[in-house]
Amino acid sequence: MALLTTHINLAIVALQNDDIIGLPTETVYGLAGNMYSEKAIKKIFETKKRPFYNPLIVHIKNIDYLDVVAQNIPAKALLLAQHFWPGPLTLLLDKRADVPNIVTADKPTVAVRIPSHPMALALLQQLNFPLAAPSANPFTTISSTTAQHVKEYFDKDLDIILDGGECTKGIESTIVGFTGDDVIIYRLGAITETDLEKIVGEVSIYIGQDDKPIAPGMLIKHYSPKTKTVLLENDVNIQLNNLANKKIGALVFNKKIDDERIVEQEILSEASNLEEAAKNLYAALHRLDKSKVDIILIALLPNEGIGKSINDRLRKAVN
Ligand code: AMP
Ligand code: MG
Repeated sequence: MALLTTHINLAIVALQNDDIIGLPTETVYGLAGNMYSEKAIKKIFETKKRPFYNPLIVHIKNIDYLDVVAQNIPAKALLLAQHFWPGPLTLLLDKRADVPNIVTADKPTVAVRIPSHPMALALLQQLNFPLAAPSANPFTTISSTTAQHVKEYFDKDLDIILDGGECTKGIESTIVGFTGDDVIIYRLGAITETDLEKIVGEVSIYIGQDDKPIAPGMLIKHYSPKTKTVLLENDVNIQLNNLANKKIGALVFNKKIDDERIVEQEILSEASNLEEAAKNLYAALHRLDKSKVDIILIALLPNEGIGKSINDRLRKAVN
């Protein structure tokens, strides 16, 4: 059974013994282990049922540590790191040879960031190794934004889950890579295109094959509830007529759909605040998934700023 605790020392002991833990970050909770421990990294993949072709993000304690895991760091990468770290930005950089290949799924690059969650940072300061961590949810399912979510998924698999409260950002990090002088977004996330462009000028968004993703956060099915989930259609009335006899739930942006046929509704932000919506997103999906509705209807949000990143997740939640 997993213990929810705020005692970092318990996590340190577990990690030093090649075990893995539930780790709070400002984006979502992670399943973390010593980057150099083959045993720990294998346990992460097994616990998450994550295919080995899908690499992990390496979490470091300070910017000086970049040189320990990466090399040939482009000037723009350094600028972004200096500006956004600690924070929800992951950089794809040439890996150093001693970063284990299992962590990077045999890729020549390593994904790296410094998380800003105080508990994650305090833990990293006391370790003499980086933490490799993917999100703390089984492959393709809804990410965890509370310690309780992690416990519900992995109670039998973990001994220690650090309880750092509710994640403040609530959506995964933005993943950025570099080709020549170009800055490319491989996964939309908590830092927006506009935020990045203020620091390094124009950036582009990678559009790839969904079946062979460079960053598997781009896999077409991901972040998915167990319950049947579809996008809300323009003509809600026709859509609801077609779902007669079904128990219907809905995830909406700022106000409820006024229709009695929808029995469970989750509002992401009554104040129409996209950051608040991101923070509430996964918890709302978890609640709808547990509410025993037959189908979840999802309304897309305004496609601007972090709304773009939320819509990316919502489209992939469709199953
Ligand atoms: P997760 O923590 O579950 O959101 O997964 C981490 C994300 O980082 C996945 O989409 C990974 O594919 C991506 N990632 C990690 N390392 C690399 C890498 N070397 N190249 C490309 N994407 C990466
Ligand atoms: Mg994930």
